[in-house]
Amino acid sequence: MSRGKSRTAKSATLLTAWMVLLQAAGPPAVQGYALTYTVADMRQPDSKSGGSACPKSNHFDASFAGHINRRWSTSFSTSPATVLTQDQTPDGRLNEIESVIQSAFSVWTSVAGTALRDSAMAPLSRTPTQSACGADGLNTMCFHQNDLLFTGGVLAFTRVITTDAVGSQPFPGSPPSSFVGEILDADVLLRPNDATVTFATPAALPGQPKAYDLESVLAHELGHFFGLGHSGVWRAMMYPFAPAPGQFLGDRPTVQAPDAPLAEDDRTGVRVLYPDPADTVHIGSIRGRVLPANLLSLPAAPPGVTGVVAPQVVAVDNSTGAVVAAALGGWSCSGTGPAQFDGSYILERLPVGPDQSYKVYVEPLDGPVDPGEVFGSTASLCRNTITDPGWPLQFACRVPAATTNFTTRMRPAP
Ligand SMILES: [Zn+2]
Repeated sequence: MSRGKSRTAKSATLLTAWMVLLQAAGPPAVQGYALTYTVADMRQPDSKSGGSACPKSNHFDASFAGHINRRWSTSFSTSPATVLTQDQTPDGRLNEIESVIQSAFSVWTSVAGTALRDSAMAPLSRTPTQSACGADGLNTMCFHQNDLLFTGGVLAFTRVITTDAVGSQPFPGSPPSSFVGEILDADVLLRPNDATVTFATPAALPGQPKAYDLESVLAHELGHFFGLGHSGVWRAMMYPFAPAPGQFLGDRPTVQAPDAPLAEDDRTGVRVLYPDPADTVHIGSIRGRVLPANLLSLPAAPPGVTGVVAPQVVAVDNSTGAVVAAALGGWSCSGTGPAQFDGSYILERLPVGPDQSYKVYVEPLDGPVDPGEVFGSTASLCRNTITDPGWPLQFACRVPAATTNFTTRMRPAP
């Protein structure tokens, strides 16, 4: 089975994560959106670390108008062409591609009940530079930049750089970071120079059945850009496999429904990352713990592990049967941390109302995404003396292996 791949690199002040979009489709599964996390550098003073080793979700500072810079490289491979357009004139091509980029951003900035609005975005600008997607504090999309990550089957990927200290300013000209986990640079790279992989705009796609839908691919990558990981919900935008050539995911965006391509699971993910304090609908949460009947049944549990590790907890809307949200549970964290592996889970930002009810179930994390990659490395929940020399022992933890061999028994509703 093909699966998503990711790698994580760490330095004293910056953490980089890559998430790739793959060609082949995997089997349907029910898992939910995933967030990505950063643990503060606890070797720094409290003023920089915030004084807590609890994992913080990665996201942009969306509280200032025009704060999130955006540009795209107008450099393209011409033989073969990377992106097929309906308009063949030089200016028309660029305008057509740019409007697809704009609508892919609107997919995420139009979700009701989030603080991620179009006003937080700086105007989209252009650069003629071919390899413009470097670590530079400029959020860029590239169509003509090669990278070692473009191994077989990888259509596109997003490289996100976050900070693990408040006030760090790794990129001259960028403002200092204001929280741990703040995204300081996010670049989207689409596969260049490949005779077998081409992309097409929505206008050109009907005549190009062998091309991948540019809008679907960009919308998926922009989910990573804004801090989301992969979802196992087959219909979700954040599912790690692209729609087949000639096809697009979900419904096309419209003026009335710019976020139409998203699944409810995607919307919940972005609401959790960028909650809107004025939202009165998506304010429900369900929390609990997943515990084994016999703690000794946890295989080789390291000390301190007191619950099922990495259970997938899913909330289904009883009236529609749709997966509204799912969370990878297994840990909690409070005060100065670090994370405790006690089987805790929380499903947040669920819609509430007189007719709203949910069924919740738990399943092992056994596909399509490898538990080690989702729970261990991508969601960097722990740091210790092995990952970071000189790490203070009281803030150290290590991520246990996911518990994947359990079955669950549902208690009947009262
Ligand atoms: Zn992806």
